[in-house]
Amino acid sequence: MDPPAGASGNAVPIVATSHFVIDLPTLFAVTVFLSATGGLLLLFSWMQNRNTPALALWGIGYLFSAAGAALLATHGLIPEPLQVCGANALVCGAYGLMWSGARSFEGRRVRMSLVAAGAAIWVAAFQFESFSASVQARVMLVSAILAAYALLGAWELWHARDRSLISRWPTLMLVAVHAGFLLARIPYADTLTASLAAGRPHGLIASIMAFEMLFTVFCIPFLRVAMSKERAELEQRKAALTDALTGIANRRAFFDLGGPLLERTVADRRPAALLLFDLDHFKEVNDTAGHQAGDRVLMAFTELVTASLRPGDLFGRLGGEEFAYLHVDATMAEALQTAERLRRAFEAMRVLDPIANATVSVGVAMASDASRTLSALLASADRALYRAKADGRNRVAPAPLVLIDTGGREAARQAMDIDRSPAMAG
Ligand code: GH3
Ligand code: MG
Ligand code: MG
Repeated sequence: MDPPAGASGNAVPIVATSHFVIDLPTLFAVTVFLSATGGLLLLFSWMQNRNTPALALWGIGYLFSAAGAALLATHGLIPEPLQVCGANALVCGAYGLMWSGARSFEGRRVRMSLVAAGAAIWVAAFQFESFSASVQARVMLVSAILAAYALLGAWELWHARDRSLISRWPTLMLVAVHAGFLLARIPYADTLTASLAAGRPHGLIASIMAFEMLFTVFCIPFLRVAMSKERAELEQRKAALTDALTGIANRRAFFDLGGPLLERTVADRRPAALLLFDLDHFKEVNDTAGHQAGDRVLMAFTELVTASLRPGDLFGRLGGEEFAYLHVDATMAEALQTAERLRRAFEAMRVLDPIANATVSVGVAMASDASRTLSALLASADRALYRAKADGRNRVAPAPLVLIDTGGREAARQAMDIDRSPAMAG
């Protein structure tokens, strides 16, 4: 393979050294191949998941990078100044696009002017002869521009660290290390200039830099694809556990999370109550005010309860107009108080006033030796709810309960005392 035109265009025979040797044309050819493959992989991934435009930006960025490397590898096809200027502008554009992909992936605004700024600075500087004639100055400027974009990309990954993507961390590490290598090119600009003149990496440091570049170009596209796939999976999993209308836990999530939560609470001999809510005559609300108004009532009720949740509590929509609230560390007296407060607050909301007034009935049950599983607790709360409905609705009813374990004795006594009285009327 011919040596590249590079900065000087002088080809120097390859000399065997103690470290690995690769001539620049081969290095460029491998870079073109890896960048183009990575770009196509990212674009292909984007075609399968059009909701992630970041994949397209990264893909185009990689193709720009491949084009830049290909232009650097061409020798004598186009005038050297045009070749050097164009190739480096393409690579600057590629890094700008990759940074914009990182921003887009995190849901941040992409500014095309900033994406093109690096290439524009490079092209503007190249117009000065004192600059374009100095290979060292060119190496320093292009390295600074690429390092700036890589650092910005790393910052985007770090900035969004709250999102639980495991593949974020290796990507961040690789991008940050790459930014470090690009920055190191500035003090080592003379070594790189000598490499361009020699037609191969000159010395161990230049060889390590070349290896790092190939490694990064190879790994990053896979990590980007892994990140977007991992996020899509997380979103799907979250959607499967979230109620679409209210945004709270759906029935499946309530059982998935509530089962172990109740188990832990009972094992620690701490009290736990289940409040089962069912909106009253909701069919009528829909019939008189319309389905959309009914939806507004469901959302208003959700907001009301969500605002009163304590850390560690769990609230979910079991279906239709039925909601469940697992109130941990609450005695029966406290749970009844919470239920009554919510019942009153909902009645006072008058969401659809003056068309219709929505109210809620609540059945309250305590976890006990007899009902230590979530489904047993729900069945117990459901029986209490049935009684609240039968007694006229818009009221709270406790479930009768028998506790044998010491930890729940007080709750049992309270529950039985309350249970002797009629359901709390609204
Ligand atoms: P009760 O006081 O005995 O609970 O009477 P109800 O009318 O509330 O009970 P029923 O089970 O007869 O009716 C429940 C209604 O809830 C029927 C259904 O149209 C309505 N519903 C279920 N899901 C939704 C929803 O997502 N949005 C709206 N607007 N209505 C819903
Ligand atoms: Mg119902
Ligand atoms: Mg109902």
